[in-house]
Amino acid sequence: MPRRLDIPVPYLAVLAAAAMVALAVSFTPLAESIDRYAYDWLFRLHPEAAGPTQSVVLAVDEQTLALTGGMPRIRATLADALEKAALAHPAAVAIDITLPDAQDKDIDARLERVFSRTPNLILPIELMPAGDGWQEPLPRFAKHARATGHVYADPDPVNRRVPMEKAAKQKRFWALSFEAWRIAAGGPKVVELPDALEVVMEGGQSRLIPAARETARAVRVRYQRPPGAPPVIPLIEVTRDPNIHLKLAGKILFVGVTAQSAARDRLMTPLDSMMMGVEIHAQTFETLARGVFLRDAPPWTVAAVCLVLAVLNGVIFHFLAGWRAYVAAGVLLAAAHATPHAAFLNDVVFPYFATVSAAWLSAAGAAAYQYFTVRAELGRTRRDKDRYRQAIHFVTHEMRTPLTAIQGSSELMGRYNLNEEKRREMARMINAESKRLAGMIQTFLDVERLSEGQIDLKREPFSSTAVIEACAARALPLAEQKKIRLSYGTMEEAVLLGDRELMEYAVYNLLTNAVKYSPAETEVTVAAKRDNGGLRLSVTDQGIGMDEKELKSIFTKFYRTSKAEASGVAGTGIGLSIVEQIVQVHRGSITVASTPGAGSCFTVVLPVHEAAA
Ligand code: ADP
Repeated sequence: MPRRLDIPVPYLAVLAAAAMVALAVSFTPLAESIDRYAYDWLFRLHPEAAGPTQSVVLAVDEQTLALTGGMPRIRATLADALEKAALAHPAAVAIDITLPDAQDKDIDARLERVFSRTPNLILPIELMPAGDGWQEPLPRFAKHARATGHVYADPDPVNRRVPMEKAAKQKRFWALSFEAWRIAAGGPKVVELPDALEVVMEGGQSRLIPAARETARAVRVRYQRPPGAPPVIPLIEVTRDPNIHLKLAGKILFVGVTAQSAARDRLMTPLDSMMMGVEIHAQTFETLARGVFLRDAPPWTVAAVCLVLAVLNGVIFHFLAGWRAYVAAGVLLAAAHATPHAAFLNDVVFPYFATVSAAWLSAAGAAAYQYFTVRAELGRTRRDKDRYRQAIHFVTHEMRTPLTAIQGSSELMGRYNLNEEKRREMARMINAESKRLAGMIQTFLDVERLSEGQIDLKREPFSSTAVIEACAARALPLAEQKKIRLSYGTMEEAVLLGDRELMEYAVYNLLTNAVKYSPAETEVTVAAKRDNGGLRLSVTDQGIGMDEKELKSIFTKFYRTSKAEASGVAGTGIGLSIVEQIVQVHRGSITVASTPGAGSCFTVVLPVHEAAA
């Protein structure tokens, strides 16, 4: 169960990669279409509260066309209806029927007259089908209009946004809906900021419309279903309904074709229903009038959320284990899924794909990383256990030799009548062997306790040369047995401070290792040199050596190189770990240089006791 605070770099890299991949993939077309689908879904799931509407759609529908002579007579029909509508004193009238060319002279003259009496008239201007120019209204009509606005909506193929500005052939127009709203609001000044339109009202207050220049000032339309949607009244009703003035007074009228046989602009909306162009303009107008806009979350917040999700998953899988980690990750995933919802409820559009994929990827990455490291750790523990078992086996085997000697001798003494000299010899042997046994046990225990900081180190001055000579004398029989020459290099004397017995253990170990892991007819050299206020004690051999990888592990408890194992030399792999501890408690350091097949050199640097130096 990993509970350490030191977080491994590869783990951080996995988490950072998860967040970065999620962000990068979120720019692919597939992810963008998933985001759009999620947007439509959220749109339907969290509808904006319906409020009063300010606009009315006057629809040239099938019924109107049937009763007025169809599209060829549309100008006359329009003139009849607008004449009547003007009597109801609407706030503004926006027409979504293009009138680019001259037709019947009398009818055009009549329509012009009606237009001249229509309050706040806004006429449409349409982009040429190829997008390379404008179809402007007939000048005789245009001169009575307060403004002309473009009637282009973004077909995507679902219409989610309407660009507030549209430019072609060096001419730029505001959207019909925007012009209608601006004129109905008393014609405020519009300041064009890079990522918003600031509309300064007469009283000096201003309103920001989140519409960035780089998106052609696109505004997300907050489509509403009835009763939040602007009411749609057939145009024919204007001339037939005696109470029509009640419905039109003070309203902004959007006049357009809705008859499916005649309308060209019909688009899908996030509400999952088709909508006519004129209704889209009226809905856009209502969005502008309500002033509650859906904004896109700034890209840095998306990156920050992805990063935070990755960090949290990292923390969860680093500090928790088992079901706890999975439950916590599940909660985090749920929170990631809920983030776009919460944002939407606060009028912010937060990308679904980046958030959710960052959460899933980082959870999967963190879980996989922890799984594999735990497995690796398990393998390591298993190997340690095996080595430990072998070591115990060896230690018990080592203890058996003196024990057998003691047992045998004591048995002989008890069973037979031995002469005094023989008895004394046996008693001496028993004594010596049990002392050896006790010494062995004592050393193991001392070093274990030392490593756990349970005993205080003795602090006595002792001579380095004396220690080295004593160890060399003890190792000499072993060296002679293997025909290995034991020699002294430069021998400089120093007074060291610490535990002489432990230091002897360390030096003796280095010497016996050098002998153990060297072939016959080679040389082992021990040297001591004063260096920079310290003593460099080195043991050099011409033995089997070790490679770089092995060098990294030799101070680990129970580790033995494969060459050492194969050489048949008995060992536990404990010696060097003890030597390292002894050197460390004496505030020294130990290093090894080695070449496989050529030999090794162990160097111990110890501080020299100042007082005697
Ligand atoms: P042991 O000698 O009981 O195996 P040590 O802890 O003393 O255990 O040494 C650990 C391992 O380091 C040895 O098993 C051997 O593989 C390697 N080693 C130590 N000293 C030498 C040396 N002088 N030359 C080559 N290998 C050595």
